[in-house]
Formats: sequence, structure tokens, C-alpha cells
Amino acid sequence: MDFKSVQQLFPSEDGNKLQQVTFLNYIENLIENIDLLKDPDKSTLGNIQDKNNDFYKEIIENTYTPQSGIGMDKVVQELINLSEGSPYQTRNYVTNSIPVASMAAIIGQLTTALLNSNSLWDVYGPAATEAEVRVISMMSKLVGYDFTKSWGYTTWGGQGAVFNGLRLAIVKQFPHSNEEGIPNNLYCFASENAHYSLLKSVEATGIGSKHLVTVKAGSDHSMDLADLRSKLEEVIQKGGIPVYIAATTGVTDSFGIDDVKAIKEISTELEEKYQLKPIHIHADSAMGGFYSFFREYDFANNPLQFEENVVASLEKINERMQHIHLADSCCFDFHKLGQNPYNASLYLVKNGQDFGLLDLEEFDTPYVGNRGYGSYHTGYTLECSRMGSAVSIYASLLAFGVEGYQQLLANYIRVNLAFREKLVSKIPTIGITNSETIGPITTFRLYASEASWHHEISGQATLQEVETTNRLNNYLFEILGKNREGVFFGDTKKQCLVDVVDSKNRCPIYAAKFFSISPYTTVEHLDHIIDAVEKAISELEEATSEVSI
Ligand SMILES: *Cc1c(COP(=O)(O)O)cnc(C)c1O
Repeated sequence: MDFKSVQQLFPSEDGNKLQQVTFLNYIENLIENIDLLKDPDKSTLGNIQDKNNDFYKEIIENTYTPQSGIGMDKVVQELINLSEGSPYQTRNYVTNSIPVASMAAIIGQLTTALLNSNSLWDVYGPAATEAEVRVISMMSKLVGYDFTKSWGYTTWGGQGAVFNGLRLAIVKQFPHSNEEGIPNNLYCFASENAHYSLLKSVEATGIGSKHLVTVKAGSDHSMDLADLRSKLEEVIQKGGIPVYIAATTGVTDSFGIDDVKAIKEISTELEEKYQLKPIHIHADSAMGGFYSFFREYDFANNPLQFEENVVASLEKINERMQHIHLADSCCFDFHKLGQNPYNASLYLVKNGQDFGLLDLEEFDTPYVGNRGYGSYHTGYTLECSRMGSAVSIYASLLAFGVEGYQQLLANYIRVNLAFREKLVSKIPTIGITNSETIGPITTFRLYASEASWHHEISGQATLQEVETTNRLNNYLFEILGKNREGVFFGDTKKQCLVDVVDSKNRCPIYAAKFFSISPYTTVEHLDHIIDAVEKAISELEEATSEVSI
């Protein structure tokens, strides 16, 4: 391979037509061929590959970097081959919060790639940094932060936001902790239904997982406030220092929404009572925060003319979601309900000045920032270089606008309301296990005879009863999972925990998941989706009857 052909692997230097057309052809070829794999009756592109136990072993043994480049046409063909069997968000894709990226978001991401824009410093990545400032401002206003004080940045997922929030929480109470290390009596609090991001974060910050206090959740899957209060007081009275409360606003599995307003009131009250420094509250709004698009919706006049039951549900979500701005920080995973490609998460903080506590000194950043030229440098992030995902977020916000997102988010509610109704009327042995909450998700559980979710959630079942039903559902997950090429459902082995009559420990609940995330899943397609559940149950019955013989 000579140097000239290496040069030809790049976009042009001068904008010449020939290289432009070559480049566009690669892209066209890729899109055309991925499109050829699409089939709305399936949930995958082409067929799922059967991956036997040796699949990755064979890859590891047989893959080499070619001595000479294989040529772009072949490269594109290899990429098309990789697409085969990939899940794709058709109407039948109802597994989890993994969106199909919108065209705006993809073009945004392409722009970042074409400019190779780094959000670290505006001298190197003016597009990424300007877009970042724009999306911080847009989302601050949307969520109700004072945009003259708030600040933020795009980071590594909702997980990164939980971690960054904790880092800020520690340094706010202990401004010398970055030099001296952290005290060994710090505590964090989150609901038992919270995402495991906080677990990893208390491990990584050195707080220790034994100092993560799990707060019970109620039947609506949100944090039990009395339990929060008593656990906070218990820690304080034993000499512990609460630094961080993660309030999940939109639980990943059930869409329970913690009451940020009440949590703020409780923490303020205890701070006064015990003369404590403010406890940082992070609204883990990674998934559910998008319903903030309804914060200023005129529910009375309903300008987008949503159906009555849809508006009522949206209003109910908004009653809780509108208080996110009381939290010290929050997050928006645009790679979930924002319909962006990975990784696109925006972490926002109420008081941007706090980042000063984390910023590096000029001496520590010899290559970038802190100079006469350039005026935006993010020395307070854990990352050094950051991908300019703000560009694709910016493109999404412009393309959808508030109303576009409202339409999408309302459709998820519409579809879930209808799904629940149809599901329980067609299959009486199924119970909806998140019926008190509504959002893009329905969790459902199969019972051997009669649906008895109420019996379980109210703590009246025995351990054996719950576990037997869990096993039945685990069986159902296997069948649904095997059939996923048709309709792709999700499942969870810890949707929530319930009390049982004969054990002190709370017991996890297994449930199947319908997560409406595709713009193509509408009410008309639900019969087909419910047929798939019925079919799986018949398969299960056949299999278990053979076993019992
Ligand atoms: C998805 C999710 C996370 C983790 O986000 P990533 O973007 O996968 O890192 C954290 N918290 C909640 C509530 C989530 O839904």
C-alpha cells in the first residue's frame, strides 16, 4: 500500500468533487444495504446469528489486522455484515430503553465526526463546545433551573452523571478532600429500586458499598419517605454524615418516580435539626427526565389534543417530574428517550459555581485551556477529551422541538395504557406489576392460576409462593427471549422487592417488560404483540406439561 492510497482514505483537503462523491457513495452503500435488511414484522435486521459457545473463541483465534488495507468497498461490506442480526426498533421492538437514533441525531453525530470536535476546549472543538453550551442552556430552562447559575456537560451515561454528582457532593462538604482523601463516615442514600450506578459510584469514590443505604420503596415503586427519614436519622445519630441522596425520577424497570420535593424537604429539615451541611440531591432523571418536556404543557387546554386518559397520565407524571429543579443535579440520557445514538448524556448542576471546587489549576493543564486564547475549557470533568455528543443532542432538540418530543412521549403512554388493558383482558393469569405508575414501560407477571399481584405487593404471600411464580416467569423470559426475532420483550429479575409473610428479607420480583421505545409502535400493533405473549405462554404450558409427566 503506497502513501498516495493512504491519503485517499481521508475526506478531501480541498472539497474536490471526486473525493466527495466517493465518500457519499460509501455512505449510500451502507444505508442502502442496512435498509435491505429491514423488515417491520421482525425486531432485527436480517436473522439473529446463532452464537454457539465457540463463537467469540473462533473470532479471537482467527482475526488479524490485515497487512495491507482491504480497500474501502470491502470495509463497508464488512460493516454491513456486522449489521446482520442487529436488533432494530421496528414496531415489534419493546425490550428496553434503547432507541433508534433519529436522522437529526445521526447527522449531528456525523457532523461531530467530520469535524472530530472535542468538547474539552473550544480552541480544538468549537462546534462541540458551542453546542454543549447551547444544550446546557436549553435543558436548564426546560427543567426549571436558573440558567444564569446552572451549568453542566455531556458525560459517560446516566452512570457518569450519578458518579459526577457524588464527586461534587463530597467536595462541597469537604473542599479539601481532593488533596486529603475522604472521611470514612460518609453515607449515600437511594431507593432499593434505584439503578446500580450509585453502587458502583460509592465503590469507586472509596465511600464503600456498606455506606450505601437502601431505602424501601412503596407500591408505586417510589422511595418510601418515612423510611428515608428514619434511615437518615439513624445514620446521623450514629455519627455518620449523609452526603448524597439519589432520587430516581423514572425508575429504569417500572417508572416509579421519587418525590424530589418531599426528599428536599426532609433533608432540609434534618440539616437544620442536626446542624449539617447541605446534602446533595441528585435527581437520577437519566431516563424519566424527558417527561420534563411537559412541565409547561397547558394540560387544561391540551393544545396537542391528546386523548383524555393520555393527558390524565401525563399530568400525573408531571406532578412529580416538575420538581426535578429542586435537586442539585440531574441528567438526561439522550441515548434513551432522547432518541440519540450512544453516548449522549447531559449532566446538569443547579449551581455551576460548584465546579470551581473540582477545576484543575493552570499548572496541571499544560496543553489546553487557561490561556489568553480560548474561553471554554472543562478542567472539572473526569474525562480529558470528550466526544462532542452535544452536537447530536443539539440537532435532536432542534429537529423535534418541545412538541415533537411531547408527541413521542405521549405515544408511549397511549400505547402502554392500551397494552395494559388488552393484556389483562386477554390473559387473566397475567398481572400488571407497575399499575400504579405509568410511563413508557409496563411490567407484567405470569401466575400459575389467578393473577395475584395485589397479594404479593401487599406482603401477604409466602416466600415459596413468590419464588415459585418467579421460576414460572423465568421460564417465560426464556421463551420470549428465544422468540425475540418476532417480538422483542424485556425482562427483569428485580423489578422491585416485596415483603413476605414468612421471612424478614424482602424478596425480588421477576417480571417481563414491555418497553415502548420505537416511534413505530402504535396502538394498532398491540394485538400482534399480545399474540406473541399468548403464544409464549402456550409454549410454556406444553413444555411444563411434558416435564410434569
Ligand atoms: C439507564 C439509567 C442509568 C445508567 O445510564 P447509562 O447511560 O446506561 O450509563 C442510570 N440511572 C437510571 C435511572 C437509568 O435509567
